[in-house]
Amino acid sequence: MEKIKRNILLNPGPSTTTDTVKYAQVVPDICPREQEFAGLMKGLREDLLKTVHADPKDYTSVLFCGSGTINIDICINSLVPEGGKVLVVNNGAYSTRAVEICQYYGLDHIDLKFPVDELPDLNMVEQVLKDNPDIKLVHTTHNETGTGILNPIREIGALAHKYGAVFTVDTTSTLAMRPINVYEDNIDFCMASAQKGIMAMTGLSFIIGRTSEIIKSKDYPKRSYYCNLYLQYDYFEKTGEMHFTPPVQTIYATIQGLKEYFEEGEEAKWARHTRVFNAIHEGLDELGFKDVIKREWQSGLVVSVIYPDDPNWDFVKVHDYCYERGFTIYPGKISTTNTFRLCALGAIDEQDIRDFFVVFKEALVHYGISVPAVYKD
Ligand SMILES: *Cc1c(COP(=O)(O)O)cnc(C)c1O
Repeated sequence: MEKIKRNILLNPGPSTTTDTVKYAQVVPDICPREQEFAGLMKGLREDLLKTVHADPKDYTSVLFCGSGTINIDICINSLVPEGGKVLVVNNGAYSTRAVEICQYYGLDHIDLKFPVDELPDLNMVEQVLKDNPDIKLVHTTHNETGTGILNPIREIGALAHKYGAVFTVDTTSTLAMRPINVYEDNIDFCMASAQKGIMAMTGLSFIIGRTSEIIKSKDYPKRSYYCNLYLQYDYFEKTGEMHFTPPVQTIYATIQGLKEYFEEGEEAKWARHTRVFNAIHEGLDELGFKDVIKREWQSGLVVSVIYPDDPNWDFVKVHDYCYERGFTIYPGKISTTNTFRLCALGAIDEQDIRDFFVVFKEALVHYGISVPAVYKD
C-alpha cells in the first residue's frame, strides 16, 4: 500500500484521514442492490448506535446520501406533527441553519436567540416552553462549530421532555469525538456525517433516533419527497437498503473508519482530541493570539481565534503559506468579529500541532506580522 501525502486539516471537517480509510474505498465494483451490500449497511447501522451508547431496542440509525446539513433538514421537516411548533435554541451559525430550514418549509417556529459567545439562558428556554404548549420539537447544536462553544444539551433535553417535546441535537461536530450518551444526555435524535468524528469520507450522513418517534411520524405531514425520515427508515426495515443510490465507496470508508474508532476507543480518542486542543491553545498563547469563547465553555474541538490588530495581518496570505506546506487553517463564521479557526478533528496528534505552529510562526515573520500578536484592547 503506497503512502498518500498527509495533509493536516485544521478546518472543521472533513478531517485528516488514515491511509487505511482512504484505501478502504478501493474495492471491486458492486451493485449496491446486492444482498452483500445490504449486509454491510446493516452492520454499519448497528455500529453507529454504539458510538452514542444507544440500545437497538430503543434507537435506530438511518443513513442518507448527502452532507451533514441533510440531517438537520430531515429531522426538522419529518418530526413535526400537523400544527406543531419548533423551538430552536440558537447561539450560532448551525442553529441558524435550522431556523432557515423551518422558514423554507413554512413551519411555525420560535428562534430563541442568544449571543454567539454566550450559553443559552435555561430559564428563558423553560419560559418559552411553558408559554407555548404547541412546541413539539426542540432543536439545538451541541458544539457550535462556528465558534466552538459547547451547549448544555443535557439540560435543554430535560426541559424539552418536561414539556412533551422531542429533542433533536446537531451533534455533527462532536459525535465520535466527545463522548455522548443518548440516555444521559436526554437525546431523542442526534446526527453526524462520516467525514467528521468517524474520520471517513464525505457523502454519507446519518441520524440516530428513537424508533418509536420515527414510527409515530408516519402520520405527520410529508414535507419532502427525498428527505423524509420515516420513508427512509421504512425502506431500510423492509429491504435493508437506502431508498435511492447510496454513496457506495464512502460506505466502505465509513466501515473502516468505525473499525478504527472502536480500536482506538471512545475515551482514548477523546483524550487524543484533548491533547490536540491543548496543543492548539499552547501554540496560540505563545504567539499572543486571543480566542473568542471563554475557555471553560469551549467544546475542546474548535478554537475560534480573533484577528490581531496588525496592519500586516492578512488571513489569506497566512492561509496560503501554511496550505503550501500541508496545513489547512479555516476562516471564522461570526459576522461581528473577524476570526479564523483551528480545529482538533481528525487523525492527528499533538506533534502535528507543534509542527503546524513552526510553519504558522514562519508565516507571521515572513509577512512582517508582529509576534507576539498585537491587540488594541
Ligand atoms: C459540519 C457541520 C454540519 C454539516 O455541514 P455540511 O457542510 O452540510 O457538511 C452541520 N452541523 C454542524 C454543527 C457541523 O459542524
